[in-house]
Amino acid sequence: MPVSTTQATLNQSVLEQKKQTVGVRIGDFSTPEEPVNMVQLRNVTKIYTNGQATLSDVNLEVKKGEFLFVTGASGSGKSTLLKMLYGEELPTHGEVTVDECNVANMQGDRLSFLRRRIGIVFQDYKLIQQRTVAENVTVVLEAAGYTRKEIQRRLEPTLKLVGLQAKANCFPEQLSGGEQQRVGIARAIVSTPPLILADEPTGNLDPDNAWQIIQIFRKLNTFGATVIITTHSEQLVRRCNHRVVQVKNGKLVPQSIN
Ligand code: ADP
Ligand code: MG
Repeated sequence: MPVSTTQATLNQSVLEQKKQTVGVRIGDFSTPEEPVNMVQLRNVTKIYTNGQATLSDVNLEVKKGEFLFVTGASGSGKSTLLKMLYGEELPTHGEVTVDECNVANMQGDRLSFLRRRIGIVFQDYKLIQQRTVAENVTVVLEAAGYTRKEIQRRLEPTLKLVGLQAKANCFPEQLSGGEQQRVGIARAIVSTPPLILADEPTGNLDPDNAWQIIQIFRKLNTFGATVIITTHSEQLVRRCNHRVVQVKNGKLVPQSIN
């Protein structure tokens, strides 16, 4: 069976990453370097302009290829954290680095370029109701100037990966919540971004659908993508054996998963 484009491209990016980090040199028996960070927060504080404080002097490192859950009560600052990663909000103090770029220095084309390397999934799906599933998924590729042929080459394996091949010509209102979220994921990953951010992607779903969605993210992670998911579902987090940090009183607190 042919390997899907998404899987092949993600595997390729993992290989490139390994070459970079391990630094293969004959006769060099030094300890390999630490894996490269995909995300780094250094002494980050975020106070909104109305005075609302969220994160306070927090540090975080997420390595390339890691899977991280961010938990915390409603209003604790989970969405704020993700927004700072894709440049929707800037830190009041400190530095946010994504894929070795300081997000605060990214504006205009440079920010668009960085965002193209980040797949973002939202709780409320944010689908275009008047467009089909296929159109919702390919709209980002069209905007990024991909050729028609390349768009077609990417669409089918992406829909297959999220289990929606049979629904390509349906409109969002003809789909269940779980299916709509899978369209949201397909749209986020069709350009094979190395970083996937999902803000409460299972917040509107029943436990079975939520679990299916998490399984898709885990599969993408095995293909090499770095995945960061916010959730307030303790149950979901406990079912997976991934790293967890909790946003609590403005701090990021590592959580034990057992
Ligand atoms: P969570 O995603 O954990 O529910 P948020 O990151 O959305 O939390 O919000 C953290 C805090 O910041 C909340 O008190 C929220 O009301 C506040 N907040 C979020 N966005 C803004 C904004 N644009 N302006 C002012 N306050 C905000
Ligand atoms: Mg939120």
